[in-house]
Amino acid sequence: MKVKRAAKYGFCSGVRIADLKVKRFAAAGGRGAILGQVVHNERVVEEMERLGVRTVDEITAVQEPTIVFSAHGVPPSFHENAKASGLQVLDTTCKFVYDIHRESKNALTDGFHLVFIGDPKHREVIGYTHDLDPAMYHIVSTVQEAEKIDWSKYNGIKIFYQTTLNAEDFEDVVRTIERRAEKVQRGDTICYATKENQDAARALASDPEVDAIIVIGGKKSANTKHLWEICREAKPSYLVQGSDDLDPKWFDGVSVVGLTAGSSTPDYVIDEVEQRLSTL
Ligand code: SF4
Repeated sequence: MKVKRAAKYGFCSGVRIADLKVKRFAAAGGRGAILGQVVHNERVVEEMERLGVRTVDEITAVQEPTIVFSAHGVPPSFHENAKASGLQVLDTTCKFVYDIHRESKNALTDGFHLVFIGDPKHREVIGYTHDLDPAMYHIVSTVQEAEKIDWSKYNGIKIFYQTTLNAEDFEDVVRTIERRAEKVQRGDTICYATKENQDAARALASDPEVDAIIVIGGKKSANTKHLWEICREAKPSYLVQGSDDLDPKWFDGVSVVGLTAGSSTPDYVIDEVEQRLSTL
């Protein structure tokens, strides 16, 4: 069976840098704990634990001298809380996430009401909104949600997308707001890495040579799930976390299998899956 990789897949620059920062910190003898998964991939989390940097859910659970903030970013108040608890901070927040923190702060100063298109439970979105007065923003992801809100009462609305979303999928939501509001601006905040992986997955799925597709990524990774949704529209597609999840039954009659991976999937996991596929 031949394996064909997507033209673009796997670690984005933000995750690569976060991964590297934590590994360098551990290699230099640093002792720290990561608040939430450093990236949404169980293998990366296990690797960090082996290096001595465990994952915690609360700042109060950190017993080490340093707290690590993940690529998704945190609410600004978490930096103050960490400092107040006597902790040093290793900040691996992605540059693109910081762009949204800065742009949304500027928009508030300019009198805009903020709208975040995304998942209210996603850590990136929590980072943008946790410290704000609820009257200053809305988080929406469906047309139905957007229809329930009276947008006309705001002088200006600034819309930001959670970085890992496909803006095209939410065009109807944004149009619903635009139709009902006086003045709407869109922040250009979709991360290029997510879009490139998605475009490449689409091209792989429409490749006539490819019979089935394997998408590799963590269980909690939203962008991996989205790649899988794109692929399965065109071809039988299977979401796996690693080579152990591959089921030989999936490949009956398959000559060429496509391979792609979410932006939090390390290279060595992709290589392991490809190696296993080539033995089937
Ligand atoms: S997906 Fe984009 S925004 Fe998110 S960490 Fe990667 S580069 Fe940064």
